Amino acid sequence: MTAFKDLGLSQPLLNALALGKYTQPTPIQSQAIPPVLAGRDLLGIAQTGTGKTAAFALPILHRLGENNRRPAPKTCRVLVLSPTRELASQIADKFRSYGRELKLTTATVFGGVGMHPQIQMLARGVDILVATPGRLIDHLQQNTLRLDRVEVVVFDEADQMLDMGFMPAVKRIAALLPKQRQSLFFSATMPQNIAQLAAGFLKDPIKVEVTPVATTAERVEQQIIFVETERKRALLAEIMKDPAITRALVFTRTKHGADRVARHLTGGGVPANAIHGNKSQNQRERALADFKSGRIRVLVATDIAARGIDVTGVSHVINFELPNVPESYVHRIGRTARAGAAGQAISLCAQDERPYLRDIERTTRQRIPAIDRRGDAALATASAAEPKDVRPPREPQNHHRGQRSEGQRGDGHRNGQPQQARNGKPGNRRFGKPRNQRQGQNHSYGNPGRSQAQAG
Ligand code: AMP
Repeated sequence: MTAFKDLGLSQPLLNALALGKYTQPTPIQSQAIPPVLAGRDLLGIAQTGTGKTAAFALPILHRLGENNRRPAPKTCRVLVLSPTRELASQIADKFRSYGRELKLTTATVFGGVGMHPQIQMLARGVDILVATPGRLIDHLQQNTLRLDRVEVVVFDEADQMLDMGFMPAVKRIAALLPKQRQSLFFSATMPQNIAQLAAGFLKDPIKVEVTPVATTAERVEQQIIFVETERKRALLAEIMKDPAITRALVFTRTKHGADRVARHLTGGGVPANAIHGNKSQNQRERALADFKSGRIRVLVATDIAARGIDVTGVSHVINFELPNVPESYVHRIGRTARAGAAGQAISLCAQDERPYLRDIERTTRQRIPAIDRRGDAALATASAAEPKDVRPPREPQNHHRGQRSEGQRGDGHRNGQPQQARNGKPGNRRFGKPRNQRQGQNHSYGNPGRSQAQAG
């Protein structure tokens, strides 16, 4: 098996990795680090949780360390674009941590906080700048930053940037970058429009793909509880009494929903904070800090706010509502089971969410077992008690694309696009062999005669 030192990284980086107790590179790291060290462009299909930040940060730091010259005022040598503020801070923290023995400056630029400290910092020039697109454009417009000295650019979570409507900004930014540069492009999925964008940015890229969608889902113990919408809040409060739930992320579809659930839990004696796009940056940071430190056991979040949040020790992810985009389910449950650890995910599913459940089960190629609300493995009971879902099987799912969760204010790119096209490849090849086959079970998907919860 490859070790970090076999990848050609410098001693200061190896020391930092040893300090962080990283013993083995993750698959994306062993595949991406050598070509990035060699200066190649890279197209990475990977999501947060696979170790991709180190996959780009380590070789970038290595190259900067080899050629350590002061950045000119109002310039940066490396630009990393991230869709959210939280992810931007996390990426910057990782650059600082891995680069602790190198004399390099890392700075962040994102909205929700004052411009002035950012202007002052940029005035001196920085080695590594991690930015969200909107605020970066503000700086470019005010001439507090120029991009003509960028040596390496990283587009992280590109599909998410597209979902959040950042693409026009990203294209403007890309147009200001020097032609001579190294570009690294990461996306969890590769729909057609993202693939086109990547093709425009990258020169003869190395393509690296890790398939965490199924593997993340496999590591997490998942359960479904069928429950009427009106009973969800009471049930959640009941679930939270379980002392095994030491740190829980609860997902709702809307910002108001997140607030309501957090209030209800707090009122019932389970202190909870909510994190979503309507909260100020201060509130978001405080909520996250309280959750990370363990002061607050429950954080209620919308998908966008939770994107990329890397909190270790999340014992449970609870889907108060199922997401209408199946990939979001995988992202959500991936908040537990970080870096190889196991975790649990419990989803509350009302009757009207069953089509979402079906999409999720198709995407992950898993049937999620149903339990009764006391948590016994009572699959048969739960399914018998549920009304049968008699809808006919459907072709790749577009029924939910018209509805948007928080942050999905893009240009409707998802609408009307079949699953295959969004994945950029036929069928579900990226998931490898279906889990039900591997386990020797014989579930039949989309059979109108069977209810969702029926045991296979
Ligand atoms: P990322 O996908 O970059 O968000 O990383 C997910 C988590 O895995 C983070 O908590 C990292 O600190 C951790 N991590 C990254 N690389 C390794 C590694 N080689 N060994 C152990 N943990 C890692």
